Amino acid sequence: MALHRFDPTGTYPSVGGCRMRDYATTEEALGDALRLSRGMSSKCAVTGLPFGGAKAVVLGVPEPSARRAVLDSLAGFVNGFGGRFRTGVDVGLSACDVETMRTATPWMVGTGPIRPDALTADGVFATLKRAVRHRLGRDGLTGTSVGVQGLGKVGLRLAQRLLQDGARVLGGDVDRAANEEAAGMGVEIVDPATLIGLDVDVLAPCALGGVIRSDTVGAIRARVIAGSANNQLATADMGNALHERGIFYVPDYLANAGGLIAVAMQIEGHDEAWAHSQAAGLADRLDEIVATADSLGVSIATAAEQLAADRRAP
Ligand code: NAD
Repeated sequence: MALHRFDPTGTYPSVGGCRMRDYATTEEALGDALRLSRGMSSKCAVTGLPFGGAKAVVLGVPEPSARRAVLDSLAGFVNGFGGRFRTGVDVGLSACDVETMRTATPWMVGTGPIRPDALTADGVFATLKRAVRHRLGRDGLTGTSVGVQGLGKVGLRLAQRLLQDGARVLGGDVDRAANEEAAGMGVEIVDPATLIGLDVDVLAPCALGGVIRSDTVGAIRARVIAGSANNQLATADMGNALHERGIFYVPDYLANAGGLIAVAMQIEGHDEAWAHSQAAGLADRLDEIVATADSLGVSIATAAEQLAADRRAP
């Protein structure tokens, strides 16, 4: 478990989901937890929410017969923080697992009236649309093509919103059932391996992180990147590489902050109207970052990092 920014007084909890994966080594798991918790801190900072970032990783996916025992043990671990760590779903954990853990700990989040994945998709949609206005000079999405990588909870809902707004949506998932569901909605299914270099206006990475790397960045043909996946840039210098290629990159921790807003709504007792306006308002946060990037002559990724660091400073 990694706590990136921790308030020892407990006034503001540290928040972040639990990820369960078959990591090759303990170091890999620790690296993932540290990167993801840092991303959560940045997310809190750029959205102006007063929490610290955290993430728990579980090393290995248990056999179905052992799953309950692992979830109980994880809940006990969460209880050990006495509410200073609030957690919920991430890759490898289902909403059902969270419900199971809730029977053993009161510190599970993302179980409020709005599902985090739904609000995450709304935030990606809002920032993607604003990015299209910045980079392509279009106010709507009619005639805009978007490639959605990963058609899971967020990707599918994003695709639906894009289609409703008149975009042409291409998408691909490694899971056949996900592709079938998306095709039924009107998504043009492509081989997921081709998505990164697809000739589209916008690329929306909504699967796993690390997709923008030194060996893939040159293949990207989209002029805007906006998606929900955490840690899309494999290394920090990829932000500059995109900038130099004229690709407008919406920082992932801004685009996908809707999930955090759903959690904040629950912790702070806000209503649904607040949550929806905050998710839509992520587009205005993007404007602020773009203005900073323009005035400093740096990439959007660098400006966002700067803003997050300034807001994290004591
Ligand atoms: P999900 O598990 O429901 O969906 C992910 C999908 O990606 C799955 O359908 C999976 O089969 C697919 N996938 C995996 N590898 C792929 C590949 N190489 N190519 C194409 N598809 C691939 O997860 P989700 O909740 O939709 O989240 C998607 C991403 O957004 C994750 O990176 C997650 O960490 C991030 N995120 C999610 C939330 C949320 O509220 N759910 C919030 C913030 C960030």
